[in-house]
Amino acid sequence: MTTNKTSTTIHKATILCLTITGMTLFFISCNTVQPFTAAERSLILSGTSEMPFRVLQVTDMQDSLFLRKPSFDLKNFAADSTFQLLVARLKTTLAAENGVGIAAPQVGISKNLFLFMRLDVPDNPVQVAVNPKIVHHPDTLVCFMRDGCLSIPDFSGNSSRYPWIEVEYFNEKGEKITERLEGFSRQDGFTAIIFQHEYDHTRGVLFTDRLCE
Ligand SMILES: [Zn+2]
Repeated sequence: MTTNKTSTTIHKATILCLTITGMTLFFISCNTVQPFTAAERSLILSGTSEMPFRVLQVTDMQDSLFLRKPSFDLKNFAADSTFQLLVARLKTTLAAENGVGIAAPQVGISKNLFLFMRLDVPDNPVQVAVNPKIVHHPDTLVCFMRDGCLSIPDFSGNSSRYPWIEVEYFNEKGEKITERLEGFSRQDGFTAIIFQHEYDHTRGVLFTDRLCE
């Protein structure tokens, strides 16, 4: 009963948010916070930290619809063992798939959370980003070569991206990080591109929406 109440409230908030967006009002935050649902908790707890998740595929009708849904912010996550298991399993999944980034919605968890590989840092550590925001970017775009996605099998294409971005997010310890990310070419590293690609997933956007010549 409590769960139903919560989901009704969120549903109303989402509708209100969409209405406001339609009226093109600015500076309104639409990031509704939502705790893990029972289904999400069950999915996360279905395996150990060494067990990868199944990655949703656009070739599957249900998966494809899920990948188009915007996700929710998390709060008070750092001390939550379910959150930490989710992060560990996402890391395992990313390694198993040989990816450079993966977002929670790609494994069926509708939360604003992703991992991105730091190509701009020695040994390329994997960075956790919770409730990410792109707070500043240039007016100009570049066409990034051969973007690809773990959820889109056997396809790559060039995507329109910002060459650099200023971002805010929380790491898995709950520490707020503000930084400028650069790198938009295959030759010189593309950390800024990975962040934008994964950020898009939390908004239900895929790189195939941003194709360029
Ligand atoms: Zn992707």
